[in-house]
Amino acid sequence: MKYLSLFLLFITAASPIIFAQTTPNFTTCTYEDIKARMLLYDPNTEETLAANENFTQARVAEIQQNRLNGNQSSVNATYTIPVVLHVFHNGDDAYLDMDQLQSGLDIINTDFNGWNTDWNTIDPAFDSIKASLDIEFCLASIDPDGNPTTGVVYYDNEEAMLNQIELTQYSWDNYKYLNIYLPKYTNGSPSLFTAYANLPSTVLSDDGYAGITYSSIRWGYGAHSELEDGQEWASVGTHEVGHWLNLHHTFRYGCSSIGDEVDDTPPTLGGSIELEGCYNNDFSCELATNGSNYMDYNHDCKKMFTQGQVDRMTAALELPSRITLWSEENLIATGCAETVPTTFLAENNLVNVSPNPASGIIRFSFNTPPQQLFIYNIQGNVLANSLTKTSATTIDISSFPAGIYYYSAIFSDGSQSGKFIVQ
Ligand SMILES: [Zn+2]
Repeated sequence: MKYLSLFLLFITAASPIIFAQTTPNFTTCTYEDIKARMLLYDPNTEETLAANENFTQARVAEIQQNRLNGNQSSVNATYTIPVVLHVFHNGDDAYLDMDQLQSGLDIINTDFNGWNTDWNTIDPAFDSIKASLDIEFCLASIDPDGNPTTGVVYYDNEEAMLNQIELTQYSWDNYKYLNIYLPKYTNGSPSLFTAYANLPSTVLSDDGYAGITYSSIRWGYGAHSELEDGQEWASVGTHEVGHWLNLHHTFRYGCSSIGDEVDDTPPTLGGSIELEGCYNNDFSCELATNGSNYMDYNHDCKKMFTQGQVDRMTAALELPSRITLWSEENLIATGCAETVPTTFLAENNLVNVSPNPASGIIRFSFNTPPQQLFIYNIQGNVLANSLTKTSATTIDISSFPAGIYYYSAIFSDGSQSGKFIVQ
């Protein structure tokens, strides 16, 4: 009977041939799953990961030495990563609105920066090793063709919505954008799948496979999310970005000394260990498990990265597959730059914004009239679209709530973007 069951299971697993060939049915993000998926795209994955590890360990040692020497400037960098969200839906089904999409990204930004409300309730045993990374995941406002974008692309495609085709075919340049694919994929009911990501690899980035695939029913909070507001499962997004920045599970290789290649995370069998919320009752490797770590599988209590993990991610940001994303040149090209340096602007494409901060009316003037001027809010919604073709235009912003806004001026030979403040 046992053999029959296994046989039936095999038939069931093998029957969706097209699906199996194009999108392997990996439902977890264990190291073995990640490596097996990467092997599909890069036969030299072992060598790729070994090279990454060599670089990482040397760089982490350097970062830690700099910290010991009190050289904080070299370890306290800030990063911005442009993001594109690919949303797969079927009509209204799984059509996530901008509020839900932004909330999913807000959770990642909040967690990485240590802004989470439970940051101050971390178990005292781990309080001294908790750490944050000064990083912003920014919805792109310029697409790969230089056109304005909300940073969100919708695809009305039922097969894609159910993750039955290769979603990475829609990827934007992996060296410029973190691609996050949001199918309504659950792998059964109740859902067994939340997300998976690949570790850094130029081979994968070259071919567009470097993103994160994430079930949209667990992305942020909103009408199309099964999560209740505040439910910590939503921080699986943070966990997956951790993988994307070369972090392993804290329970990788169980109690062995290799573990997750991070010095300060206690070894644990984890994964299969059920923790009660944030109560840390697991001593599977004779040390208290850091159950509130984002890279554990305890989805009811996600609060922290350790300093060692932050150092490892800092090193990952310097790997060839990640270093281009946060370059000033790329942030300008994707509309995620804090300011637009004048060195980038062609002399005839200058944009002057005044006053800034503004209230009531804001004026844009140009040396060369642009074809279009777009105004966005921080969620990426277009609030105004002016067909100027004049050397100056004014926009009524009296109805805009106070906050940060973005503009993007489209010229015949490119676009310029920047921020302004409404007070
Ligand atoms: Zn994982």
